[in-house]
Amino acid sequence: MRTPEEYKESLREMRPNVYKFGNLIEDVTAHPATRRMIEGHARIFQAAFEEEHSDTVTTMSTLTDETISRYLSLITGPGDMIANSRLKRLMFNLTGTCTGGRCVGWNALNAMWAVTYEIDAKYETNYHASIRRWLGNSQARDIAIAGALTDPKGNRKLGPSEQADPDAYLRIVDRTESDIIVRGAKVMIAGVTASNELFVVPGSAYKEEDADYAVSFVIPRDAEGITIIEARHPSDMREMEEGPDNPVKGGGITQGYVLFDDVKVPRDRVFMAGEWEFTGTAILSFIGPYRSAIGGCVAGQGDLMMGASTLMARANGLDEKAIRDKLTSMAMNNETTFGLGIAAGVLGRQHPSGVWQPDKLMANVNKVYVATLPYETKRLAQEVAGGIGETGCMPSWTDLQDPEYGPLLRKYLTAEVPGEERYVLARLIEWLTVGGGIPGTMHGGGSPDGAKMLISRMVDLEHDIDLVKDLLEMREEPEEEEGEETEE
Ligand SMILES: Cc1cc2nc3c(=O)[nH]c(=O)nc-3n(C[C@H](O)[C@H](O)[C@H](O)COP(=O)(O)OP(=O)(O)OC[C@H]3O[C@@H](n4cnc5c(N)ncnc54)[C@H](O)[C@@H]3O)c2cc1C
Repeated sequence: MRTPEEYKESLREMRPNVYKFGNLIEDVTAHPATRRMIEGHARIFQAAFEEEHSDTVTTMSTLTDETISRYLSLITGPGDMIANSRLKRLMFNLTGTCTGGRCVGWNALNAMWAVTYEIDAKYETNYHASIRRWLGNSQARDIAIAGALTDPKGNRKLGPSEQADPDAYLRIVDRTESDIIVRGAKVMIAGVTASNELFVVPGSAYKEEDADYAVSFVIPRDAEGITIIEARHPSDMREMEEGPDNPVKGGGITQGYVLFDDVKVPRDRVFMAGEWEFTGTAILSFIGPYRSAIGGCVAGQGDLMMGASTLMARANGLDEKAIRDKLTSMAMNNETTFGLGIAAGVLGRQHPSGVWQPDKLMANVNKVYVATLPYETKRLAQEVAGGIGETGCMPSWTDLQDPEYGPLLRKYLTAEVPGEERYVLARLIEWLTVGGGIPGTMHGGGSPDGAKMLISRMVDLEHDIDLVKDLLEMREEPEEEEGEETEE
């Protein structure tokens, strides 16, 4: 297992290829725009060494029997899915925000473990052996892997090969015996700057004419031809500030645009190259575990909103009784997504390749709740916090320390606790509800509308109709009278 320092050192050793605000970032572990995201991911590495967290954060490798990071493990049964939800809740508890530079890659590798097995069975390819070799090696190196599925997509009504710009979806532009060459982009990739490698998977199900877009591979984040542009973030200013204006030490994440300019991918790192008929399986295999365990993410952040709301109420001279109803609603929201995610994880099935695949219907139902309930929890936290938490409308920490007017600002922020204490709580609530801590669970992991579309396809309506027919003894359809005329 790598220490947090070893992890950060591995990022410093990479070729600088991350830009923000027009500048190349030489050291992502030190630059104010990226270092907090790295600190959040480093917290995962640290947790592996902490007695109270190591069982959640680490597991035994099914490939080597060594202790490894859970983020590099194969999910092989319901117990692993429960641990997955607990891990996500824990990481939000510890960092306040998303550490998606590891978990999306983890889901991608589990999805492609199953898909490579299926492709090999049909075409006698060697993809499964390749992913096995790469995974064993990655576990030994204890690397952080971001997951890249989302393409720019152009016109949403058109498929990849119908787009005016053929690069609107990442595609294979050339093939040699030893490599494939890819061009295009993957966008909104969580924690990409905090990762050592990228796991690329098709973002949707494609048709035969889209075969060049059916591509999956792993690649070092700093490979030749890859450029990353970090997203501008709603709370960039505060992310870059020191002190309590940035309330969470190890948190903050942004999503990068990853540009692939004719990038060479060695064949032994390729897990799909043209097998378009497996793209649907790939995306469904990804969203099963992802949309289950994401319920743990938002519950983990909800825990913090409950704690911060209670402390703010106390700071204002109120007690829990004044906000009990709101706290109860917040707890119900947290446990709904956490519990439904676990249920989806447990009620799955074993894929012949050995990985466990959660119940897809329930995972998608959970996705819809994840895209709705946390917003209600945030609204409640803001309601409790008052205006200073809702939009963070207070002078900066620097102004609070000003020798001339600072004492007055602190005096007028003081209630049951000193002004600075209310200030810090309000900044945290702002950060959790409108700032850098927002997990982005509306679209992260796919849109709720997309999930609803899958739900409506998966619901077995005929079964429900049959139930009613049985109950009402309507099983036999009424027969048409002989010789009766029917109108066209
Ligand atoms: C915080 C955050 C983290 C993320 N992290 C990652 C990551 O790590 N890796 C990754 O690969 N991606 C990541 N994403 C991207 C995420 O997967 C996408 O945002 C999501 O899939 C939706 O795609 P889009 O943003 O392009 O929305 P769009 O495709 O533009 O969709 C917008 C709306 O239009 C609807 N829509 C789209 N097409 C159609 C259609 N044909 N007909 C009818 N309605 C349609 C959608 O349902 C949605 O409601 C992240 C996003 C966020 C916000």
